[in-house]
Order: sequence, then structure tokens, then C-alpha cells
Amino acid sequence: MSTEPVEPTSDAVSDVMDKVVNLCKRRGFVFPSAEIYGGFRSTYDYGPVGVLMLRNVKNAWWRSMVQMRTDVVGLDAAILSPPAVWEASGHLANFTDPMVDCRSCKARLRADHLDDPDVCPSCGATGTLTEARNFNLMFKTHAGPVEDAGAVAYLRPETAQGMFINFANVLNTSRKRPPFGIAQIGKSFRNEITPGNFVFRTREFEQMELEFFVPPDEAQRWYDYWCAERYEWYIQHGIDPSMLRMRPHDADELSHYSSATADVEFAFPWGWGELEGVANRGDFDLTQHAKHSGEKLEYFDQAANARYIPHVIEPAAGATRAMMAFLLAAYDEEEVRGELRTVLRLHHRIAPYQVAVLPLSRKDELTGPAQRVLEAVQPHWMCDYDETQAIGRRYRRQDELGTPYCVTIDFDTVTDGAVTVRERDSMAQDRVAIDQLVSYLTERLI
Ligand code: ATP
Repeated sequence: MSTEPVEPTSDAVSDVMDKVVNLCKRRGFVFPSAEIYGGFRSTYDYGPVGVLMLRNVKNAWWRSMVQMRTDVVGLDAAILSPPAVWEASGHLANFTDPMVDCRSCKARLRADHLDDPDVCPSCGATGTLTEARNFNLMFKTHAGPVEDAGAVAYLRPETAQGMFINFANVLNTSRKRPPFGIAQIGKSFRNEITPGNFVFRTREFEQMELEFFVPPDEAQRWYDYWCAERYEWYIQHGIDPSMLRMRPHDADELSHYSSATADVEFAFPWGWGELEGVANRGDFDLTQHAKHSGEKLEYFDQAANARYIPHVIEPAAGATRAMMAFLLAAYDEEEVRGELRTVLRLHHRIAPYQVAVLPLSRKDELTGPAQRVLEAVQPHWMCDYDETQAIGRRYRRQDELGTPYCVTIDFDTVTDGAVTVRERDSMAQDRVAIDQLVSYLTERLI
């Protein structure tokens, strides 16, 4: 694992960031939200290819964490939740940033980010900052028509609590016993004071979290296991190990209930940044919810005739943040025959489309066979179909979308029943019989 900090120059930062953000807008990955109304700060919409890619990131996680295992089950819990949940979890009391207001320019600033506690960095005035107050990061709303205290609800700031409050439901219905996990993917909301760096930090984002419940004496072993698994996951999905590191938290960074936490970090253009945290949370969460709800949240081990509160290992990742890391890691430019080629070298499971079907011309002679090729391939993979523009430009477009294979139907297809398959990274071309195409692609897109 690499531990060398990355210190890119500010030019390099803006260069690769600008290029990726620009590509995202130009090709339909990510749009600034409410753009026709001037945008809404730090919210983004995922466009026609962005939604495919984000879905693929989530599917790849789900595949590894749920589909390919027998010890993890899924959950999709509510986003709106009553204060009691956040009271028990500690979020109402502790999920805060210390904030100061400037009486002069009205800026609201994070107290722990000030260079000089007496000077407003926004307007430069001295002595205008208020005392620091804790600002809760949870979005608060009211459920129902009356906005009184009894109707207060919160948008979840993490998906994790859904797993803890359903622990007994899952235990009673799924026939799982520790060690086992509950996995969830979904939106979370945090009223971040300093959102930014594109989709790295937004107020509305998606998380992919696993709560893995283990016998207390197995916690350390499972913590080590999940740290290794989660680090490997990013490599298996195409991120070069030189852009990743595992950073164990120092003792003073740990939450009071966590005996160990490590972050999977990615070399973002501005430096190392967290992609995912893996934490040994002990029995804190189940104990808290048992205390506050009055329900027993424990496991009875019949073989040992013993009752215990499982300990929890939590790998908590961001789907939108991971998508950004996959884009940055995949972005490449190279010179091909005197021209600049931009290519996203995405893993085939993460790329928006796996296959593009491209008839060389719009003549019926070719669009007919192209439709038949599309019908053969579409049930297996997400396909783009494009019959306009010169073929070279269509290849460039697919390169920028990260499509691993382009299938071209040309005039020879009519007589030889074969198509040209072009591979994105090497640009190598193979002639493949149409009736062999699905098996040819299956071998490569497994
Ligand atoms: P950070 O230190 O970056 O604020 P965190 O330690 O508060 O993150 P966790 O609460 O551990 O984050 O959440 C797990 C994951 O959720 C993070 O590793 C990140 O990938 C993602 N995440 C958290 N906050 C945001 C956000 N505001 N925007 C996008 N993704 C986020």
C-alpha cells in the first residue's frame, strides 16, 4: 500500500479537475442542479450516462458485498426518521461543527478552520466574530401539516442507523447469525458548511454501508478482514494501487466508542481524501438503541448457551464520491496519429455502456443488421446505439464515455455476417462472426 502523500501543483489540480468536470458536463455524466435557475449550491444531477455509471458503482458494491456472499443481507430503510433514532445514535448531541458568524458581513464560518479567531477571513474585519456555536449537520423538517415539536423529523445523515434499528427484524426473519452483515445503499443528507470539490462533498449524496455483526471476541479479526477487503475492492474495479492508501486513525481522531478506524484514501488532485471509513464500533450502537427503545438487541448463542450484544464492524463508503474517484483515476489523454485522444479507462463493470453498436452508414443495408446485432447484445449489457457522424468521431465519443467495446457493422457484414469489434484501450480491432459475438464479448466482459 502506498503511503507517500501526493502533493500536486495547483496547476495540476485545476487541470485534471477542470477536464473531468468539463467532460462530465459535455458528455452527460453530471450537471449542476437547477442550472436553468442559476444552479443550487453544491447539488448535482446525474445525466443519461452519469446515472448509468453511478448505478454501476452501486451494483459493483452490491455484487461484492451481498450477491457474492452468504453472510450479508440487504436492506432499504426510510430516509425520514423520528428524533428518537438520532437521540439514541448521538447525532442530535454530537453531529455538529462549531460555527461563528461575522456580525459585519454575515458570513458563517467554521470556527476550527479560522487562521485567526479574531479576524473574519471573509471581509477582513477584526472583532466581529460571534462566540462559536455548535451547528447540527442534520436536515430537520416536519412530518405532517403542523410544524410543532411533535412533528419534527430528520433526513438521515447516514444509512447506518437503519441497519441498527432493524437488527432484531433481520435476525428474526433472515436465518442469519453472527458473524453476519446488513448492507444498504441510499441517499444521505448533511448540511455541510463547506461543500465543494465537485461531487466530493455535497449536501445530498449516496452511501454504501455495511454493518457486520460479530461475536465480541472476533471483532479484531473481522476489522482486519474488512480493511483488506475494502482496499482491494477499489483495485479490483480499476483504481491503480499507487492512487490508494489505507490510513489508520490516530488515537485522538477516534470516536469515543470506536477502538479502531481506518480510511481508504484516494489521491485526489488536491491530495489524499477519504473514500471510505472502516470502523470497529464495538457494541455502542446496539447498546444505545436497546437502552433508548427498551427492546432487547442481542443474540442468543444456543450452542454456548450465552447471550451477547454483537460488536459491529462498519465499512462505510460514498457512492457519489467513489464515482468521482473512478472518473479521476480513469481519465487519460494520449496522442494518436497526431491527434489528442481522451479516454476513460474505466473497468467494464463501472463504465456507463459496455458495448456501442455503430453501423458505418445509415443506409438500410446496414441499419437492418445493426438492429439485429443490438437485439443480440442488449439483453446482456448496457448498449449505446449511434448511427450518425464519421466513425472516427463516434469512436472518440465512446472513448470519452469509457465504453470498452465498439461493434461496427460495415458493408462486408452484409456478405460475411461478421462485425468489427474495437477494444477501447488498445484500439485493436477483431473481426467476429455475428453469431459468435455474444460469446466473444462474454469472455471479455465477465
Ligand atoms: P468526511 O470526513 O469526508 O466528512 P466522514 O468521515 O464524515 O467524511 P462518514 O460519516 O464516515 O464520512 O461517511 C462515510 C462515507 O460517506 C465517506 O467516506 C464518504 O465517501 C461519504 N460521504 C460523507 N459525507 C459526504 C458528503 N458530504 N458528500 C459526499 N460523500 C460523503
